[in-house]
Amino acid sequence: MNQTMDAMGATGTLHAQHGRYPRAETVEDFRRNLAAVHARIEAACQRVGRDPAGVRLLPVSKTVDEAHIRLSYAAGCRLLGENKVQEAHGKWQAMGDLEDLRWSVIGHLQTNKAKLVARFASEFQALDSLRLAEALERRLQIEGRALDVFVQVNTSGEASKFGLPPGEVAPFLRALAAFPALRVRGLMTLALFSSEAERVRRCFILLRELRDRLRQEAPAGIGLDELSMGMSGDFEIAIEEGASVVRVGQAIYGARALPDSHYWPDRAINPESPR
Ligand SMILES: *Cc1c(COP(=O)(O)O)cnc(C)c1O
Repeated sequence: MNQTMDAMGATGTLHAQHGRYPRAETVEDFRRNLAAVHARIEAACQRVGRDPAGVRLLPVSKTVDEAHIRLSYAAGCRLLGENKVQEAHGKWQAMGDLEDLRWSVIGHLQTNKAKLVARFASEFQALDSLRLAEALERRLQIEGRALDVFVQVNTSGEASKFGLPPGEVAPFLRALAAFPALRVRGLMTLALFSSEAERVRRCFILLRELRDRLRQEAPAGIGLDELSMGMSGDFEIAIEEGASVVRVGQAIYGARALPDSHYWPDRAINPESPR
């Protein structure tokens, strides 16, 4: 961990270094990685005078197989983030014996897969259309469930990224007030994928300032306490700018074999991507 901190300094990003996270293979590895991430969270909080209790770590287990997820469970993980709903649903079915293990879907969802999310997820962080909200609400009513949701905002201006443009979030939130099964918790974003820390930071600042403005006029029942922003490569910056949830995969599980272009197709053509 010290090596990581030294390489990065207080404001750098680690996007180019993801390949360096070794794969966690034992419960001990997971305990050590989780402790290292928590130490980085605490250090970031300390720099800006925040209480670390105000930052929730969401481990992201996409591409990780069942055996390794069970090791991370043994090390204490109880809510896991997954980018693809079918992958998440399969894992939920396979690990039904772990009764207190819950799932957060953090990736783009097609309307025709709302049914799956409504069945098993506890949280959905990528809400970005009314059609999807309607489909989720209808399915949740059928299941007799409610779902914590985050509205995804495109803060990078990249055309190929999912999420609402910042200017469309206010009317979207007003419309969401009509869906009682969707418990709106806050906003989520993916920052620009860049090694330039200040450009990444601007995405996080944009999300926080948008939230602060919207909170003053939010309809009853719409909560905007949460800001989900920051991943393995940039979560310290996100915390400095107010993140209440950080979504961290590779720093806990190890570098992924699959390139991220599999999850964010735009990154395959993004010249800034270090991969
Ligand atoms: C994969 C993913 C993350 C975590 O990325 P890491 O580099 O593994 O920390 C965060 N958010 C979303 C939406 C993801 O798909």
